[in-house]
Amino acid sequence: MLGRFPRGGQRAWNVRHRAIENTLGRTIVFPSLSKRVAILGSTGSIGRSALEVIEHLGRPYRIAALSAHTQVAMLMEQARRYRPAAVALTGHPPDMDLRDELRSVGTDVYFGPEGLAEIASRQDVDIVLVAVVGAASLPAVLSAVAAGKRLALASKEALVVAGCLLVPEARRRHAEILPVDSEHSAVFQASQAGRRAEISRLILTGSGGPFLRATAAQMEDATVADALKHPTWRMGSKITIDSATMFNKALEIIEACWLFDMPPERIDVVIHPESIVHSMVEFVDGSVLAQMAPPDMRTPIQYALTYPERLPGLGRRLDLASLAALHFEQPDPRRFPALRLAYEVARVRGTAGAVLNAANEAAVAAFTQGRISFPRIAALVEETLAAHNVVPDPSLETLLEADRWAREKVGALMNRSCRSMSST
Ligand code: MG
Repeated sequence: MLGRFPRGGQRAWNVRHRAIENTLGRTIVFPSLSKRVAILGSTGSIGRSALEVIEHLGRPYRIAALSAHTQVAMLMEQARRYRPAAVALTGHPPDMDLRDELRSVGTDVYFGPEGLAEIASRQDVDIVLVAVVGAASLPAVLSAVAAGKRLALASKEALVVAGCLLVPEARRRHAEILPVDSEHSAVFQASQAGRRAEISRLILTGSGGPFLRATAAQMEDATVADALKHPTWRMGSKITIDSATMFNKALEIIEACWLFDMPPERIDVVIHPESIVHSMVEFVDGSVLAQMAPPDMRTPIQYALTYPERLPGLGRRLDLASLAALHFEQPDPRRFPALRLAYEVARVRGTAGAVLNAANEAAVAAFTQGRISFPRIAALVEETLAAHNVVPDPSLETLLEADRWAREKVGALMNRSCRSMSST
């Protein structure tokens, strides 16, 4: 039942919305009857939530394709349950037994990053939900956009690294890019209340992460376990450490610039520890619209799939009285230099986003392995950015080259500081 068009089906819905469009003169997107979804990264936390949402929505929503990096057993289990037309395994060597087993239940099997790009552009896919960690999703994201698919984007890296390619290409192909990131979904939802030209400012909220109240000295001594204690969201380890450094918010500033075509000086960040207000839009008349809900990724995932419709959701309902108070405060730029770096990168554009993202990924990996202190993550990203010569209008190859260069640079900077430490 859920997921059907209310009262009179698709045609009546279209007629009604055409009437609304004529009245208001606004662009309404007409949903197609098919809602066949490919989930890139279906074994991660966003991917599993997306499976739950699609199962809950029922027809016309269907799981058309799934992908995993290394979690083969879980992917197999998902494939048996949901019977997708295709699956891709990106971090696993081609396995003929696996291929034959899945083929016997009618599922095509692809391997490697090329396989991921192939399932993202298949004809039997309408919506591509991208929940692959890191910049690895890039070729698949570009292939989905080139095929004119709706992109439900949970991986912020695609826009941070390649917004300069992705956004113009999406315009050319009339491919929609809808945010799944909770802050950007909030901005997107709140922005439905007015026209693009009526928006004066975006206000992104952030929980502040586990070190919101930590002193600089405590941050210097922080362990990986300390950094993984996120107060409100349960997420993968990379993004949780990014919340602790506020590089997550930094990536989100850059992501918002691309998604909403906003200059960085019109994007503010405010700390909101309760994670109830997911972000806000300020309009030219001074009105501020917020999207609020208990923290649950299934809500923004569902909106990216059902937009412009809203359908009954799975999340808990908001009970403001039991919360008693919501708090807001300025982030501390001294303890969280990531935010300043994001504004610089968003102004410069070109290859700067790829360098910030890759340097951060490399530095987070080094911190997780116990090789550097927590504050050194931001320092390494800053030093890497300072050493980079930005290329203004990069190709995909140039972006990937900048990504490789930044990772090597972080390694070189770490070796240099090791040598200088051992010589003193
Ligand atoms: Mg977010």
